[in-house]
Amino acid sequence: MTGVLYVVATPIGNLDDISLRACAVLKQVSLIAAEDTRHSSRLLQHLGISTPSMALHDHNEQAQAESLLARIVSGDSIALISDAGTPLISDPGYRLVAAAQAAGVRVSPVPGACAAIAALSAAGLPSDRFVFEGFLPAKTTARRGRLESLSGESRTLIFYEAPHRIVECLQDMRDIFGAVRRIALGREMTKTFETIRLLPAAELCAWVESDANQQKGEFVLVVEGAPATDQLPDEAETDALLVKLLKYLPVKPASQLAAELTGRRKNALYDRALALHAGSAGVD
Ligand code: SAM
Repeated sequence: MTGVLYVVATPIGNLDDISLRACAVLKQVSLIAAEDTRHSSRLLQHLGISTPSMALHDHNEQAQAESLLARIVSGDSIALISDAGTPLISDPGYRLVAAAQAAGVRVSPVPGACAAIAALSAAGLPSDRFVFEGFLPAKTTARRGRLESLSGESRTLIFYEAPHRIVECLQDMRDIFGAVRRIALGREMTKTFETIRLLPAAELCAWVESDANQQKGEFVLVVEGAPATDQLPDEAETDALLVKLLKYLPVKPASQLAAELTGRRKNALYDRALALHAGSAGVD
C-alpha cells in the first residue's frame, strides 16, 4: 500500500488551534517533515506527539523531495508542517507537493489555521472575492511598484508584513491606495496582544506611527478593494473635477487628490491632468 503525503496546518499563535484530525495524523505518520524541527518540537511536545521529524525548508526541499516520495511509494505516510499555519502559504512545501502530484502520490490536506484567512474573517471587509499577495518586495521601489500595479484591483487584498517594515508599508499604501481606502491591521492574532483594527489608510498609518507597541509582532494587512470600474465617475465628471482642482493646485497634487476622491488610478489622472493643464495654458 502506498502512503499519503498529508499537508497539515498548525497554529499561528495559540497552540490549541489545531484540529483533532491534525493531531491524529501527526501521531500516526512515520515521519513529520517540518520547516524547522526545533521550532515545531514545542508544538509536538505540547500535543504529546513523539513521531520522528526531519527538516524540510526552502534550501533542501528540492533535494529531499525524491527520497521522501520514495518512502511514501514504499508505504510510509508523511506529514508536512511549517512553523505556523498552513504549509505552502508563504511557507515551504510547494516543490514537494508539486513533485508528489506529478508522481501520482496521494496528497491530502489537513486544514486549519492560516493568518490570511483569520485576518480576512475578522477584518470587516468584503470577503466574497479576495486576492492573497503574500509578502510585498522588501525594497522600496519594488514595493511601491507592486502597490501601484494593484491600486485598481477591486477585490479585497491580503498582505503579510514584517514588523520592521510595517510603518513604511502602511505609508506606501496610504500614498498609493489613497488616504480614505480602508485597511484592517491584524496583529499577533490568537496571541496575548492580538489587535484587529479597521481604519481609513491615513488614520491607521498615523495610529501605528504614533504607537511603538503597534509596530511589534506579526502582521496581516487586509485592504479594501478599489471601487469597481462601473462605480467610478465617468471621464467627463473626472475631467470636470480635475479642471476645478487645477485652478488651485499644481498638476501632481491635483491628480493625487482627484485619485483619492474618485478612486481612479493616480498615474492615469496625472497624465490627464497634464493634458488638461497644457490645453488650458494661455486660456485666461
Ligand atoms: N503559513 C502561514 C499561514 O498559513 O498564515 C504564514 C507563514 S509566513 C512565513 C508568516 C507571516 O504570516 C508573518 O510574517 C505574518 O505576516 C503572518 N502571520 C503569521 N502568524 C500571524 C499572527 N498570529 N498574527 C498576524 N500575522 C501572522
